Amino acid sequence: MLNRLIVSTMPLMPRWFIKLFSRRYIAGEAVEDAMNLCTRLKAEEFETTLDILGESISTVEEANASREAYIELIRRVSQQSFSKNISLKPTALGLNLDFELAKENITAVIRFAHENDFFVRIDMEDSPYTSQTLDIYRSLRAEFPRIGTVIQAYLHRSEADVTSIAAEGGNLRICKGIYRESPTIAFQDKEAIRENYLQLVKTMLSARAYVGIATHDIYLIDTLEAYIRDKGIPAENYEFQALLGVPIEHRLEALRDAGHTMRIYVPFGEQWYAYSSRRLKENPDVAGYVLKNLFKFGK
Ligand SMILES: Cc1cc2nc3c(=O)[nH]c(=O)nc-3n(C[C@H](O)[C@H](O)[C@H](O)COP(=O)(O)OP(=O)(O)OC[C@H]3O[C@@H](n4cnc5c(N)ncnc54)[C@H](O)[C@@H]3O)c2cc1C
Repeated sequence: MLNRLIVSTMPLMPRWFIKLFSRRYIAGEAVEDAMNLCTRLKAEEFETTLDILGESISTVEEANASREAYIELIRRVSQQSFSKNISLKPTALGLNLDFELAKENITAVIRFAHENDFFVRIDMEDSPYTSQTLDIYRSLRAEFPRIGTVIQAYLHRSEADVTSIAAEGGNLRICKGIYRESPTIAFQDKEAIRENYLQLVKTMLSARAYVGIATHDIYLIDTLEAYIRDKGIPAENYEFQALLGVPIEHRLEALRDAGHTMRIYVPFGEQWYAYSSRRLKENPDVAGYVLKNLFKFGK
């Protein structure tokens, strides 16, 4: 109750509070912070994917600056020993402004990534961008095989999308979906989303199309881990994925120790505010946790 109140009054809160909360979810503001964290995670045998926070751009210049930031990131990370793997949000590269602009920017990043042997995942945003994001992904896949995108289990259309992408031998991260979507296009019921999630991952696994199982839902993790074992799915067909900072009771370590690839999504950058607000809205309990820690500092 208190946590929900905190979240509803969030726009009125000082940024330092949000920043305090966001620390656990974000590697830092600078590339060095993110690279240090990835190096530490690699030492613990976790794979990573790096995301530059920047989803709220409003000009062509900002979209182009995001492109250059990714190119610089690839340049820096190519010297490192951790995963050469990045995730990007189409609107950060201009999809909210103009389809062709975003496509050109995304293509430029992916071309440079390809030359440097990187894998690039195109994140999925809210439903106005779903078809355009899939179009960009499909148009680039023939030339650049080491790319993938994301499908959200809450969307009704996802079953058809996954069926065709699995048949094409595509590469998908499957997540529940984080945006608020209308009941006309998206399941609202938690159990329906879970059921769809399982179905979508199984469709990918049965087709031996690569799938990133991105969830912190222990029921889904356990069910899919058992499915993978029972069906003898080879380790090179899938990975488990989690967001940096989400506490899931040592489950990540257990998955890693059982021999599954475990990838942590590591966001960083100056535009931490939008990302943090979304995390806080999604899990208001975290607000209470931060508040408790605040009072501890005071003692
Ligand atoms: C690697 C990765 C990449 C993602 N990429 C996308 C994307 O491209 N597009 C998109 O729409 N969504 C993306 N998501 C977010 C996803 O869609 C869900 O909103 C989010 O993962 C929560 O769903 P869940 O499956 O973890 O299950 P839930 O049932 O929501 O959560 C399971 C448990 O984890 C805890 N938990 C979940 N999230 C948090 C959190 N942020 N902080 C603290 N505890 C938490 C919950 O309290 C709960 O106990 C991504 C998620 C992951 C893990």
